[in-house]
Amino acid sequence: MEVNKINDFKINLSNAIEAIEHQRIILMSRDPIFGFITSKYVKCGKKNCKCTKGEKFGHGPYYYLRLEPDYKYKKYLGKKIPGSIKERVEVGRTIKELEKREEKIKNLISRLNEL
Ligand SMILES: [Zn+2]
Repeated sequence: MEVNKINDFKINLSNAIEAIEHQRIILMSRDPIFGFITSKYVKCGKKNCKCTKGEKFGHGPYYYLRLEPDYKYKKYLGKKIPGSIKERVEVGRTIKELEKREEKIKNLISRLNEL
């Protein structure tokens, strides 16, 4: 690539980072949750319940929220995932994706700077 083209490319990349930062700020104002939702079936332990008679699934599924940093902490959500939680998890996931994209672009810029 010739120098001018490289410079144009760098400017485009910088603009892309600015756009990502802008989008990130907007998303951060939407109360993101950084984690993911899991579910499980449970056995109640009652003698005559279907779940103790060897049925494939127990009761549920019940939903839990697992949070960063290590996802060990579980918050019980219930039998239905509240819509607001679902949305906030989605916002958190989008922010993470944006950060990854930003990281890649920054790496690319520093490699271009080494040329
Ligand atoms: Zn049961």
